[in-house]
Amino acid sequence: MTYRNILVAVDTTDEAEEVVQAAREIADNQDSSLGVITVMRPMTDFYVNLYSMLGDDAGIEIQTQAIKHATTWLKDLVKRNDIDASAMHVIVGTPAVEIRRMAEDVDADLIVLGTHGRHGLGLMLGSTANAVLHGAPCNVLAVKVRAEGSK
Ligand code: AMP
Repeated sequence: MTYRNILVAVDTTDEAEEVVQAAREIADNQDSSLGVITVMRPMTDFYVNLYSMLGDDAGIEIQTQAIKHATTWLKDLVKRNDIDASAMHVIVGTPAVEIRRMAEDVDADLIVLGTHGRHGLGLMLGSTANAVLHGAPCNVLAVKVRAEGSK
């Protein structure tokens, strides 16, 4: 099977490098384009209210800083892995929903993400890989990661 447009999804953990490298290798072998997405979960009402006690815009400011930090981190990652900066996306939302949506928007024919291959309770609690798979608009490749994530 040949893929022409690959989307790799990474969270800001140590395992991201391994997942992106795997996607880079497939893209190189298949001469396909490669984009990357990181999704940041929005702050819950609880935290928004807590930070609002510190000042009107404190909650929004913290979220803005967190997005900036993730964007800087992702820029470094894409640079190291020879991915065009215009093909990187930092989105706020629910990871699986936004990953699937982006795959549709950019017309990806393969989504690459990492998996720890969880069993038992860990699996029952759900994983992003699992959630993306259900309802994905294209094929999904789960790269079994070895790195210890920082989560
Ligand atoms: P998890 O199921 O949370 O352990 O994540 C499995 C894989 O899904 C990770 O290795 C990433 O490839 C991808 N992933 C998880 N969370 C996110 C996120 N917030 N944004 C983009 N990709 C993610």
